[in-house]
Order: sequence, then C-alpha cells, then structure tokens
Amino acid sequence: ASIFAAVEMAPRDPILGLNEAFAADTRAEKVNLGVGVYYDDNGKIPLLAAVRAAEKARLEAQPPRGYQPIEGLAAYNGAVQNLLFGKDSALIANGQVITVEALGGTGALKVGADYLKRLLPGATVYISDPSWENHRALFESAGFPVETYPYYDAATRGVNFAGLKARLESLAPGSVVVLHACCHNPTGADLSDAQWNEVVDACRSRGLVPFLDMAYQGFADGIAADAVAVRAFSTSGLQFFVSSSFSKSFSLYGERVGALSIVTAGKDESARVLSQVKRVVRTNYSNPPTHGGAVVAAVLNSPELRQQWEDELAGMRERIRAMRTGLVEQLKAAGVAQDFSFVIKQRGMFSYTGLTAAQVEKLKSDFGIYAVSTGRICLAALNSKNIGYVAKAIAAVVK
Ligand code: PMP
Repeated sequence: ASIFAAVEMAPRDPILGLNEAFAADTRAEKVNLGVGVYYDDNGKIPLLAAVRAAEKARLEAQPPRGYQPIEGLAAYNGAVQNLLFGKDSALIANGQVITVEALGGTGALKVGADYLKRLLPGATVYISDPSWENHRALFESAGFPVETYPYYDAATRGVNFAGLKARLESLAPGSVVVLHACCHNPTGADLSDAQWNEVVDACRSRGLVPFLDMAYQGFADGIAADAVAVRAFSTSGLQFFVSSSFSKSFSLYGERVGALSIVTAGKDESARVLSQVKRVVRTNYSNPPTHGGAVVAAVLNSPELRQQWEDELAGMRERIRAMRTGLVEQLKAAGVAQDFSFVIKQRGMFSYTGLTAAQVEKLKSDFGIYAVSTGRICLAALNSKNIGYVAKAIAAVVK
C-alpha cells in the first residue's frame, strides 16, 4: 500500500476557501471583502513607483545571484532597524538590536518561534482573542502551547483593556505574549499610547517576553506614529522580539520581504543570540532570497526613493481612511439607523463590522459580496465604484 494511503485531508484555510468561492461566482457586481490585501481605486494591487524605479536600476545593474549571508542583506537589516526603532535609537547605537531578513512577516514569526522554543522550551505563548489566524498555528507548530488573552470587546467595539491587563498581570514569568504593534488584525482596534505604557509595565513586573508583530507599519497614522509600541518597549529596558513585514507597506506580497529583530541587554549578548538565530535559519532555508530585500533596501536608503515611497504609503493610508468615512456616510444615507461611526475609529486595513455570520451569508447569497464569517471586512477592497453597492447591500442585510 502507498505510504500516503491513510493520510487525511487537512482542514481548508477559511480565507482561501472564500477566495475560491469568489472566483467561481459569475455575478459581475461581486466584491471580495474577505482578502488581506491592499487594492487601489481600480481594484488592482499597486506596483509602487518607488519599487519600480529600484527594480529597474537593479535589473540594469545585472547583479550576480550569489548566496546572501544567513542573516540577509546588511543594508536591508539596518534600514529595517531604523524604521522600527528610529534612526537615532540608543538601542541600535549600543548594539542591542539584531535583525535577520526573513520570508515575510510569517517567516519572521516562524524563525522567532523556533528560536524561542530553544531558548524557553517550557513557555506558554499568549495571543490576542481574536488574532490573525496563523499566530496560533505558527507557535503551535514550533511546539508551544498557545492560549489567549482578552482583547476585543464587542460591546464597545474597542479593546477590553482591563481584561487584557489583568490577564497579563496573572501570567507566569517567562510567558511569551504576542502583541499586534498596530492595525490589529482582524478587529482594527488598537491600544492607545498610554495603554501601551501600561502593557510595558505589566510585562516588566511579570517578567514576560513580548513578541511584537508589525505587519502594517504606516497604515494607521504614519511610519513613526505606528511604531509607538516598539518605541515604548525600546525605552523599557526589557528584551523583546519584533517581526515585521513589507508585504503591505511596499505592496510586495509575493516577494516575501520581512524581518525578525531581537532586542538584547547588550552587544555581547547580541552576538551570541544572533549566532543562535542564524542556526535556526541555516537549518530551515539557509539564507533568504535576494530580490525583495535588495529592492526595499534600495528604496529606504535613497533619499529620493524613500520620499516617493512615503508619499505612496500615505496615499494608501488616506485612501483606506476615505473608504472608512465613505462607508459610514453611505450607510447613513441608505437609511441605516445603527451607528457605524466606530468604523472610522478602527485602524489599518480591517474592520470588525459587527455583522453576524447570518448577515455575512446573506451578503454573499443575495449580493455576491464576500466577507469573513466573523464580520471582518477589508476596507482596502472598497473603491469609488463598489462602495455604494456595498453600502446598500449592508443596509439591506442589517435592516
Ligand atoms: N502578522 C499579521 C498580523 C498579519 O496580518 C500578516 C498577514 N497579513 C502577517 C503577520 C504576515 O505577513 P506576511 O504576508 O508578510 O507573511
């Protein structure tokens, strides 16, 4: 018999399943709000002009395709550190930050999780309730038990901060806490600056190990403003992990460009930790691919391209904001009595709309509008052509 004869079918990824159903839908007016991708006003994934310029220069230079160092391109890792910690960061100057290029934010989380398992084999990992669905799977596959801390409060459509804080203050020392640095996926509800300081205090007093996940830097208020959590931990004296991604902010999803950064107590520790993280990388994929990191580094390290990128990023951020405001206005205009103004306060690409699974189902069956059954929609999939249709459809299902 085949060695695969008894293999069971793995459960389908719920969001990929949604995409397949959307693709098979023949209605011309269909809209996919289930995705986690930024589309422009024409419904296309943009190729940023700054990226195009850097790619053109790179192609013309015809660089040889040797192996990268295990930790990736130094110019890339340095640029990542400046974005996350600020270019005048004392941690960087002191040699307290190590960064390895990774295969997207997912790859950064995976390398970080595998390294943490070697460092703290008995730890439990805590993720927000709810969280990006891959967080649990990633840390479980690294061998950790994964539990949740309270996060979303459906009644206020904000963060249950008292619950979150009480839970952190009750965790065993050495527990790993995965925190969304900004633009919480899936809820769109973020902590305030003051609340971040309280989270830092709780992590310090309980001896917790913070792991910040930064997948949307620049999508809420701006590059530096969105790094508030990283900056709050930076001045705390704590050691912590940061995974980061350029999938959205550079619109480079398929190039797999991310990074894992770790803050240590000092330069000597950094050298030892880096040597261990490199072992994780070496035994996994040896070294990262060249193209994406080279392009991002070229943009971030050129003053002109960097400015162009910041302008393009601001354009994406402002378009999402306009879609939030527009949706709220059009729902009101469509006669919806319920107050949807919370959509304007939520940050990043997503909104927990409060739509029930039955309402989401009706959006699909009656209107060809696809959303996640939890009521999560992607605002970046709305545009000037489909927003009116979506608002009328939501109005019809909530009435
Ligand atoms: N973390 C969060 C919170 C995300 O939403 C995502 C994906 N959108 C990632 C990590 C993974 O990013 P990447 O696509 O770069 O692997």
